[in-house]
Amino acid sequence: MPLIYDLTLPELTALLESWGEKPYRARQIWQGVYRNLWDAPQQFSPLSRGLRARLENELDFRALEPVTRLESRDGQTLKTLFRLPDGQFIESVLMKYGDPASRASGAPRQAGDSGAGPRSRRVRRTLCISTQAGCAMGCAFCATGQMGFRRHLSSGEIVAQVLHYARQLAAAGERLTNVVLMGMGEPFHNYENTLAAIDRLNDPHGFDFGARRFTISTVGLAPAIRRFSREKRQVNLAVSLHAADDALRSSMLPINRKYPIAVLMDACREYTAVTHRRITFEWALIRGVNDTPEQARRLAARLKGMLAHVNVIPLNPTSGYAGQATTRARARTFQQTLEEHGIPCTIRLRRGIEIQAGCGQLASRA
Ligand code: SAH
Ligand code: SF4
Repeated sequence: MPLIYDLTLPELTALLESWGEKPYRARQIWQGVYRNLWDAPQQFSPLSRGLRARLENELDFRALEPVTRLESRDGQTLKTLFRLPDGQFIESVLMKYGDPASRASGAPRQAGDSGAGPRSRRVRRTLCISTQAGCAMGCAFCATGQMGFRRHLSSGEIVAQVLHYARQLAAAGERLTNVVLMGMGEPFHNYENTLAAIDRLNDPHGFDFGARRFTISTVGLAPAIRRFSREKRQVNLAVSLHAADDALRSSMLPINRKYPIAVLMDACREYTAVTHRRITFEWALIRGVNDTPEQARRLAARLKGMLAHVNVIPLNPTSGYAGQATTRARARTFQQTLEEHGIPCTIRLRRGIEIQAGCGQLASRA
């Protein structure tokens, strides 16, 4: 049965027309799905009983079956394991920053607050979603890479993760503020479906989630970065770099043998030149491997003069990789070395480690 979230509005309209319905019915259904966040045909009160029955019988509104839901000790990170119709599993993680209640009562600002923006910028509800079941890129330190590739997600399966959490938040009077494509899988290996999902959620007549609120993270598929540059979208781009020389990067990220750092950097420079948008380079700090002042200096040289920012995070543990996380002191030194060379760098907090919800820890253990 086709998944309703796989359909564009024109496709839904064509389907409804083939059922002998007027085009405005498709718009009503679209708004029901993406504005009212309805997930069952019975909820579509503007429609006739007959049309609701047809929706029920001919379109799938579920797609994802939540199997387990884990919450971190501080309650700020939530991870859901979903079963897909064909028995594959994926995970998505919601990260809460700031408490709307304490904001309203005038609590002091938190680290990371922009200060200038409206309340919605300080209280963040960031959802990390998957684009594939498993991943074909085989990065040594990543649990998803360690499990191998199962399959691409359809655009609707990507969309459905967002709608699932949007409904939950709406029930609590909250809403999503950011969506990061940093869960299981390599978004640019599933390029069309990933961008189609973003487009569907972006539609101002539907979910209306601004392009700037999305961030795509890629392992560095250079041709896809070039292609993405030409799309001139407002979507943010993050590139997982992790090492400043080819020997080290290839030992951690096998894709580096295909697209070595110089090739990747050329694609990144094209991206910033065409879009005038800054790239975030991600770097998981592994003690004694890539957290040395020498790597920091080589990284600074690579990024010199570029519209760039470095996001470091201490490595999260995974069962298939022996490397250790850096220490707080070494992370600070790494950051300072970059900043001395004029490269902005932030140290990201690790989140949800105890529920295996941290970066690179997602895998279907079910
Ligand atoms: N495939 C994409 C997006 C998913 S991975 C990519 O690789 O960019 C999201 C981020 O988590 C990437 O930056 C990835 O390098 C990082 N990551 C993977 N394993 C990690 C680990 N064990 N600790 C910290 N970060 C990790
Ligand atoms: Fe895939 Fe990203 Fe994990 Fe590498 S880090 S294996 S690209 S999900």
